[in-house]
Amino acid sequence: MKKAWLLLLLFGGLLFAPQAASAQGDPPDLPVYIVQPGDTLYGIARYFGLTLDELLAANQPLDPNQLAVGQEIRIPGLEGVHGVLSTHTVALGESYRSLLRRYQVDETLIRRLNRIASPTELYVGYALILPETPAAAAAVDAVALSPGETALELAASQGRSPWEISLYNRLPSPSRILPLDTLYLEAEAATAEETSPAALPAIFRQVSLAPQPLYQGATAEILIQTQEEVQLAGQLGEYRLHFFPLDTSAFSYVSLQGVHGMLEPGIYPLSITARTAEGEEFQIQQRVLVADGGYYSETLLVPAETIDPDTDREEFAWLYEQVTRPPTPERYWDGIFANPSYFPDCFTSRYGTRRLYKGAGTDLTYNGYHSGLDFCGGEGLPISAPAAGRVIFSGPLTIRGNATLIDHGWGVYTGYWHQSETYVQAGDWVDTGQLIGRVGGTGRVTGAHLHWEVWVNGVQVNPMLWLQRTFP
Ligand SMILES: [Zn+2]
Repeated sequence: MKKAWLLLLLFGGLLFAPQAASAQGDPPDLPVYIVQPGDTLYGIARYFGLTLDELLAANQPLDPNQLAVGQEIRIPGLEGVHGVLSTHTVALGESYRSLLRRYQVDETLIRRLNRIASPTELYVGYALILPETPAAAAAVDAVALSPGETALELAASQGRSPWEISLYNRLPSPSRILPLDTLYLEAEAATAEETSPAALPAIFRQVSLAPQPLYQGATAEILIQTQEEVQLAGQLGEYRLHFFPLDTSAFSYVSLQGVHGMLEPGIYPLSITARTAEGEEFQIQQRVLVADGGYYSETLLVPAETIDPDTDREEFAWLYEQVTRPPTPERYWDGIFANPSYFPDCFTSRYGTRRLYKGAGTDLTYNGYHSGLDFCGGEGLPISAPAAGRVIFSGPLTIRGNATLIDHGWGVYTGYWHQSETYVQAGDWVDTGQLIGRVGGTGRVTGAHLHWEVWVNGVQVNPMLWLQRTFP
């Protein structure tokens, strides 16, 4: 017990070492940040909550135009903090608690350095400022407790002393560990190279989320590899995730999820549960950032009677029902989507544009956004299927005109509105490049054009991305 306290004091002392007495006139002993590729002085100042002038004042003489990677920048305003500060990007599988344990850092210090009020503010991709401690440089093994396992059992299975585990993880007692918690152990030489920085529960070999950060209109892609065959379930904010096997022999899975173009930017919870054949459950719970999509805004003057949001309510509800049926377990597409339009690189309106509709001659307004991609070119131009799939609807609608919906499997659907003619019917199989209809001006439009939508698990996403890269 005495030894434990001594060591704790030592660790604390490293971070809060009393300032070395400096001779009169010497610059104060400030913590330093090492310049990384891509850094700017302005960026560093912002990062530490300083103005550029404050940062420059603490680093005289410093030429802001001569910043070099590896250079030490002194950081003022952090009384009592010394040594080198570095940044750590929070990875999937890491939590506030696991980071405190991994880097052996005092919680008060982390909060001060990062100006965070609560651990819930941390999300995947968050760049956390950490002091460089001996523990940060040391090789460690991340060990996740199995369901029902205690720290004592873990200690026995790893051949370690329970007190060593408590001490390294700053636990008041070995019994104070939550089920499925991740703990760190000083690595033994033989295992040091296999150290993984992320503390994923034992069943997960790899978990990735892209893009980071997520943003309005994105297609989120979650790739998971596990140690054995599992059932996966998950939730991202309000969206219930669906996982499909990518490679059954390698136990790899994927979930594709659209992020709504008008979703309020902010931090949303992500949870993923893996259930083994024996019924054991392992869970990852994390926060992820959804950023603003950076879309343009436009104001449209339209006939006052079309402002009524009720006009589209029923038709949209019907459409939503079509694209949120239990997803087809097969994937019909392969590779990048082919362009459905005669003019491949010409667009009259892109996805995501915020639209303020104003009723002509009235005060009526309606806030909406453009949920698809409008291609150039008019009446009679051919429309082709961008990928293989099964037609689930083709027929006239009031607002969307002659419309076609194709199911590409795994919860991915494409829609084609305002056609003059349609050449396919519900139940038809279509191949990539097959002629499915012709551009028209049917429904609520101002002129003939193809409006193309891509739905991913119940949400319209930016279709352009599906023309640029392969999902997954
Ligand atoms: Zn459109």
